[in-house]
Amino acid sequence: MAKKIGARTKLREHFLSNIGKLMDSDELREVAGGITEWARRVRELRTEEGYQIQTHNDRSGLKPGQYILDDPTPQPAFERAISKETRAFVLDRNGFTCQMCGAVAGEPHPYDPSRKTRLHIGHIVDKSQGGTDDASNLRALCSVCNEGASNLTLERPSVQKLLIQVRRAKGGDQLELLRWLIQKFPNQARELLEDKST
Ligand SMILES: [Zn+2]
Repeated sequence: MAKKIGARTKLREHFLSNIGKLMDSDELREVAGGITEWARRVRELRTEEGYQIQTHNDRSGLKPGQYILDDPTPQPAFERAISKETRAFVLDRNGFTCQMCGAVAGEPHPYDPSRKTRLHIGHIVDKSQGGTDDASNLRALCSVCNEGASNLTLERPSVQKLLIQVRRAKGGDQLELLRWLIQKFPNQARELLEDKST
């Protein structure tokens, strides 16, 4: 038993002191003291402790046997308890976009471009104020907003402010915005175009 706990601790420390570094199974087996259950210990770090260690199942750029931990903050227990289906539903509904700052999953974070945006699931109404874990009370939040989300409510920009920003933007950026809007609202975009043509 002591040996088992030891290997997991060694692996946890290794991941935490090598954030963002790609590792392979040989390296991790050695860190775990050469035990055959090293992969199970890595899985426990994910499922029991919430560390979001990525494998080829999570990220297309990784090969089988490669592991990486980008974010030292473990997922909170409630988030781990949310089913994969609910998580996918909420992320899809929110367009894989942080509902506070607008950062998009996998893209460089607008406030810290050295970080790739990772999305978490957060509560809209906090649990302490009676909020539930139901999908209707959940939203996508990036790591940056999630860390400071509990006592901070960013105001959504008004349409006037948005329009001023968009009109001042470069043509290429406006087109990118248009593409994003069409992707988000395909049916509305089609209706608007059909209105014009009749
Ligand atoms: Zn955010």
